[in-house]
Amino acid sequence: MFGKPGAGKGTLSRRLVEKYDLVTVSTGDLLRQHINEGTDIGREAEEIVARGGLIPDDIMLKVVTNKLNGLRNKNWILDGFPRTLIQGELLNAHLKKHNTPLTLVLNIDVPDNVILHRISDRWIHSPSGRVYNMSYNRPKVAGIDDQTGEPLTKRPDDNPKSFARRLRAFYETTIPLLNYYHKQADGKQGDLFHTPQHPHQVSFHRPHKLKLVTLNSGSSDENWPHLDELVRQYPSLRERLDKMNNVSDAIVASGMAAANAYRVGQPQTT
Ligand code: ATP
Ligand code: MG
Repeated sequence: MFGKPGAGKGTLSRRLVEKYDLVTVSTGDLLRQHINEGTDIGREAEEIVARGGLIPDDIMLKVVTNKLNGLRNKNWILDGFPRTLIQGELLNAHLKKHNTPLTLVLNIDVPDNVILHRISDRWIHSPSGRVYNMSYNRPKVAGIDDQTGEPLTKRPDDNPKSFARRLRAFYETTIPLLNYYHKQADGKQGDLFHTPQHPHQVSFHRPHKLKLVTLNSGSSDENWPHLDELVRQYPSLRERLDKMNNVSDAIVASGMAAANAYRVGQPQTT
């Protein structure tokens, strides 16, 4: 899932996780977790993240592949990685080795002026990655996380200077990566629709063609129905039968164990 800082990647991933049997890996959340826990990676990352710089590619690859290795046979979304051409190539090589190529590249395209406004209003519950916005997605009690009752904080990189740097990094390093995927992707709409198969014949590792889709409504609420319709075309993505009590249980950044406890529903046939 690609998009400028504040484009709504986290919000949309969270909605997907709530509805479908998949997990999300957010490198921003993972790094904030490392920083909170004071790990070696966290100590190295803290200052770079706060000023809106980019963590070296080799460290990021390690952070991500550690997570992905625990997610074989799972559908997953990456939010925040890859972000540079080199990361894209490293990821491709890693996925090729495991015969699990990317199937979908989503580009959430929101105008700069919209996200600038959004960021200044954003508060987070750091341990879970839950995001609030004081204009359109307020917590029930000001300054308090709805689910845990813990205090909300400002991200240290949600200040105008760091934000400008993050936005510039998006244009300079992530746009070339999107062009790289654009070249790999088969743009024909028909390729999205796979031949219906009996559930037992659906092989998880079946190679798919890469698809690149841009969602360009200004808000996550408007983008959500399009995204929902899009992912329903993937036969291996199943809706959850039991809606999760606590969606953040499935968020990889906050620990995977609980997510495995849930059973999945029937495959989508639409
Ligand atoms: P948002 O969460 O609003 O979409 P964002 O995409 O700028 O904003 P995160 O994805 O949360 O932010 O990442 C926060 C910071 O973590 C980045 O600014 C960067 O310093 C670091 N970071 C995250 N992912 C990567 C990556 N793939 N490569 C290098 N640095 C990264
Ligand atoms: Mg994010």
